[in-house]
Amino acid sequence: MTGLLAGKRGLIMGVANERSIAWGIAKAMAEAGAELAFTYQGEAFGSRLRPLAESVGSDFMVDADVTDDAALDGAFAELQERWGTMDFLVHAIAFSDKSELTGRFLNTSRENFKHSLDISAYSFIEVARRAHPMMIDNGGTLMTLTYQGSNRVVPNYNVMGVAKAALESATRYLANDLGPEGIRVNAISPGPMKTLAGAAIGGARKTYKHTDQNAPMRSNATLEAVGATAVYLASDGGACTTGQIINVDGGFHVLGMPQQENL
Ligand code: NAP
Repeated sequence: MTGLLAGKRGLIMGVANERSIAWGIAKAMAEAGAELAFTYQGEAFGSRLRPLAESVGSDFMVDADVTDDAALDGAFAELQERWGTMDFLVHAIAFSDKSELTGRFLNTSRENFKHSLDISAYSFIEVARRAHPMMIDNGGTLMTLTYQGSNRVVPNYNVMGVAKAALESATRYLANDLGPEGIRVNAISPGPMKTLAGAAIGGARKTYKHTDQNAPMRSNATLEAVGATAVYLASDGGACTTGQIINVDGGFHVLGMPQQENL
């Protein structure tokens, strides 16, 4: 992939640590020659992110909680001032109250429903609107991260499934809105991965083992494979791909039932 993203610049949102999907993407994009900026939430996370950002040659970090309009305005003003234009944006952000990522979906609270959809789905629209002026002249790519719990029931995924359904729909609407300006919008859908957010979902270990043993490839997605998919989407090779939900899950999404040997 060396050189595939040479001369391109982009913002990575959602690196919590080296296990984050956003970090797998950042590493792959940096190896492909991209220049990167990062957002983080609050100073504690900023100091954790700094050595990671520096390891891929970036000193550009901006504080942005996606529920805070002023913080987002400030972050994009900084990007605008330093870069002027931007080629891609990676949105790898989700949140829900852990106590509702287990048990009955029926018990979803109004407050957590609103909060989960705000952070995990609506925020993609907020950042797309702010990134769009920086992409308008040369085109660009926006991408987000989703999960198949959006359209099929995965035990304990609960309100996050509804949030991912909204996020995938927003991906299609944004793709249609921004297509005439040469801006592409896609979502990558990995299978279960061992991250902080992944661990918050009830029964995460069992879900991980089930998909690992039953996916056609008999393995879950790796950070490297998700990263390489993001590189492809941001590269000129992705020029005609928009509005897509791209599964990077070892093929798990095609199954109608578990493998015979696991029944
Ligand atoms: P992660 O490392 O925990 O990343 C989640 C990120 O979201 C963190 O950096 C977190 O920041 C950020 N975030 C949460 N609330 C925020 C807010 N209000 N403002 C700004 N940032 C906020 O977990 P991950 O698994 O890589 O998650 C990345 C994306 O991949 C999510 O959309 C997730 O749903 C999706 N995904 C994950 C899996 C999986 O199995 N892990 C599978 C498919 C899709 P803080 O740490 O600062 O709170």
